Amino acid sequence: MTPGDEVVVALDVGGTGMKCALVRPDGATVHAERHATDAARGPEAVVGTILDVAEGLAGKARADGLSPVACGIAVPGVVDEARGVAVWSANVGFRDVPLRDLARERLGLPTALGHDVRVGGLAEARLGAGRDAGHVLFVAIGTGIAAAHVVDGSAAVGAHGAAGEIGHILVRPDGPPCGCGRPGCLEAVASASAIGRRYAELSGAPATAAEVADRAAAGEPLADRVWREAVEALADGLATGQALFDVATIVIGGGLAQAGPRLFDPLRTALRERLTFHREPRLVAAALGDEAGCLGAALLALDTLAKESR
Ligand SMILES: [Zn+2]
Repeated sequence: MTPGDEVVVALDVGGTGMKCALVRPDGATVHAERHATDAARGPEAVVGTILDVAEGLAGKARADGLSPVACGIAVPGVVDEARGVAVWSANVGFRDVPLRDLARERLGLPTALGHDVRVGGLAEARLGAGRDAGHVLFVAIGTGIAAAHVVDGSAAVGAHGAAGEIGHILVRPDGPPCGCGRPGCLEAVASASAIGRRYAELSGAPATAAEVADRAAAGEPLADRVWREAVEALADGLATGQALFDVATIVIGGGLAQAGPRLFDPLRTALRERLTFHREPRLVAAALGDEAGCLGAALLALDTLAKESR
């Protein structure tokens, strides 16, 4: 077995689907597959599918003459990486699931459990849009908003596995209610879902954030107002992030980043207006798309392996 045969079994488990892959240590994906999460079946059934899929991938690797050396699993919610426990997740239904040990027992491979956005940030910082910077803030904007602060290729986890919850920075004290129970959080104002909701509320017609961006660019005043409000709130959140972390690069991922210059041009200006003595970070779009979680899970597993063999 030569080092070129080594692969990591990687899974990125989301509320609706699982992205799964065999990833080489250099970050190249040699095989990818997707499965439904079907979270409505309950957490035990979801865990069963995760273990079956991971075992299947390890088997496929061996059948293809490759050597699975580790397993990395990313899940949403609150994740205790040190204990390997999925502490809490609203959209998958996990409550204190010892997923790392379950996978290690089933596969017989060293396994790491990570948070989906934190490992996504890890991948963007090491292999993607932040790869030339030592200090990176990765911000994923979709249904919600979450971030990962990556320093020299390692993402801060926090004392309770909940670092990076930038979506719950208070930006508008009188703002709309957030899923966390408090009004005015960043994600209640500026997530893709919040933008669509706000536009629907004011216009009476449903629209996605992408449609709001399109209509704003076409000169529709209401869409322009909703889009501008969201950009201003995002800039407030990012300015807070920059005050805390002083990063070289902010990488924006998730669905909203696909608005391209319609997001990045006004956001860059609004962020610049809010910074005083802080240095302006480079503001760029994520480069790895929805593969970032899987790649990051693989990187986390390799990091764990390297630490264990030391
Ligand atoms: Zn909140």
